[in-house]
Amino acid sequence: MFLNEGLKDLRDKGLYNVINPVEGANGPIISIDGKELINLSANNYLGLATNSRMKEACIKATEKYGVGSGAVRTINGTLDIHIKLEEKLAEFKHTEAAIAFQSGFNCNMAAIQAVMGKGDAILSDELNHASIIDGCRLSKAKAIRFNHSDMEDLRKKAKEARESGEYNNIMVITDGVFSMDGDVCKLPEIVEIAEEFDLITYVDDAHGSGVLGKGAGTVKHFGLSDKVDFQIGTLSKAIGVIGGYVAGKRNLIDWLMVRGRPFLFSTAITPGTAAACIEAVNILTESTELHDKLWENGNYLKKGLKELGFDIGASETPITPCIIGDEKLTQDFSRRLNDEGVYAKSIVFPTVPKGTGRVRNMPSAAHTKEMLDKAIAIYEKVGKELGII
Ligand SMILES: *Cc1c(COP(=O)(O)O)cnc(C)c1O
Repeated sequence: MFLNEGLKDLRDKGLYNVINPVEGANGPIISIDGKELINLSANNYLGLATNSRMKEACIKATEKYGVGSGAVRTINGTLDIHIKLEEKLAEFKHTEAAIAFQSGFNCNMAAIQAVMGKGDAILSDELNHASIIDGCRLSKAKAIRFNHSDMEDLRKKAKEARESGEYNNIMVITDGVFSMDGDVCKLPEIVEIAEEFDLITYVDDAHGSGVLGKGAGTVKHFGLSDKVDFQIGTLSKAIGVIGGYVAGKRNLIDWLMVRGRPFLFSTAITPGTAAACIEAVNILTESTELHDKLWENGNYLKKGLKELGFDIGASETPITPCIIGDEKLTQDFSRRLNDEGVYAKSIVFPTVPKGTGRVRNMPSAAHTKEMLDKAIAIYEKVGKELGII
């Protein structure tokens, strides 16, 4: 078979990712191969993936509408519950309107190519998510990478692009929160540069929504809701379900409803999904309890690991990398944590730069202090055993 060689090569080099299915819900404790593990690898920041109010809303909507939406949004797959969800999301993000897609990945596939084309340019942070990179490619606009969160580099490249006279529209795209280090984009400076050079602004806030800005995300956190043209959010991380959305001005959303290809050519999210997401936003707007608990747990885990002597990088969010450096040692460390009862995935080159291998921890609102204490104790044991601390 034409793929045999490629597969063998990956397997020989230990680069083929083996997937171990989780037996049951993806909560703070998971079961893999019949073994219980403290789960520090899910993006389920607020524990909403197993929320009982959302499960109930999902079941009720499924009974009313059925399990599927039946068509793409532009034929007759738009159910009233999709409209309700979009109104809810716009309110939540403090924008005029919002449009839902089947995933965050699809949002970037849809939105970038819907507005950018040949003759345009996109300034993109070098650590932006893969779906942004793919979205840029689909658009056929010139992609110009700037060094990670380097505002001098962004300014220089924005100036060059504008002064070259080669481009019509120029866009700047950044992740709101960078998922591998947990750092937050420098949005006030980005907005300032965008104003100076007349750039369209695009923030993919997959890891910021539900986490920053009391839940409303990075843009709200900086008070810049009316300065950012595109806010992308996912319904699959803090919201705990599946799907994504773009929030912005009414005109932009109207445009995406006729030009966002996954909206036109891929079936709408299920009614149960829409209902569960509406309930999630209700939960987030009623109280900051889960948000506060997430930060409390994040800070607790960070403090514990730091006191043990681990290098936890410069995260500004609950995302807690534990930077080991050497790739092989990182993988051994993750494996030994797993043996002892902690599920924390190793992340190595090419996902992160060479020599900065890490085990990434995603604490959530659903973890208890006991679980975190146990995880920290296991970190201590394995860290000493491998000579990391
Ligand atoms: C996870 C992620 C996505 C993809 O979101 P899904 O809803 O899982 O498809 C897009 N952008 C960023 C920055 C992400 O972290």
